[in-house]
Amino acid sequence: MARRRKIYEGKAKVLFEGPEPGTLVQYFKDDATAFNNEKRGVVTGKGVLNNRISEYLMTRLAEVGIPTHFVRRLNMREQLVREVEIIPVEVVVRNIAAGSFSKRFKMDEGAPLPRSIVEYYYKSDDLGDPLVTEEHITAFSWAAPPELDDILALSLRINDFLSGLFLGVGLRLVDFKLEYGRLYADDQVRIVLADEITPDGCRLWDIETNEKMDKDRFRRDLGNVAEAYQEVARRLGILPEAGPRDLKGPAMMQ
Ligand code: UDP
Repeated sequence: MARRRKIYEGKAKVLFEGPEPGTLVQYFKDDATAFNNEKRGVVTGKGVLNNRISEYLMTRLAEVGIPTHFVRRLNMREQLVREVEIIPVEVVVRNIAAGSFSKRFKMDEGAPLPRSIVEYYYKSDDLGDPLVTEEHITAFSWAAPPELDDILALSLRINDFLSGLFLGVGLRLVDFKLEYGRLYADDQVRIVLADEITPDGCRLWDIETNEKMDKDRFRRDLGNVAEAYQEVARRLGILPEAGPRDLKGPAMMQ
């Protein structure tokens, strides 16, 4: 493939200029980070699995009317997406207490919440992604009030849909993180789901055993990280055809 201009390099993905204006190529790396970059590692095969898992989930969400940036998967590690203006807010939806929420409220991990709770974090590595309120988001113009209304409504719909989808394959969707962007098309601007939905940004627990099948295996040194992601893909019925040997995928070309 021809050399492409790198637009942005994040912790787990690289964005390249796409083949047409208004598109980008999203490349999934095997790199893993946690605790605001303090812990780093490589999980061989993760990028291939995440590319496939995110394709699958974004496609299912589009089928039920959730607008997303996803266009199509290009190869083992890359997908074509629409270029959007990222809203600098991480939206976390929680169904069960875990992680930072358990610490903040001194609740046992696994305690069910009275209802799904949506939280917002300002995307800033320097500040360590602080928890913010709708007031901060609108006052600092990170998103306008009607945009935030869309973001909240979409996030709750996504939670309902994905909770059911994962339950159907024996996984509990404990919590997850979403990012949104502004898509400028035909003289209009609309909010669409962006980034990725993968076990890097979700907590998924086995229904029967409560075994963690997500990035907590990396964060907490539980081992078998790639195997857990592979099991999520297997249950979703989307394991790459050539099997685990194929997980490395093609080398990144620049
Ligand atoms: N999350 C994420 N990126 C972040 C912070 C959190 O994808 O920068 C996801 C995380 O995987 C989990 C959910 O958001 O599914 C809630 O994370 P939490 O606030 O509990 O933080 P953590 O305990 O992961 O530090």
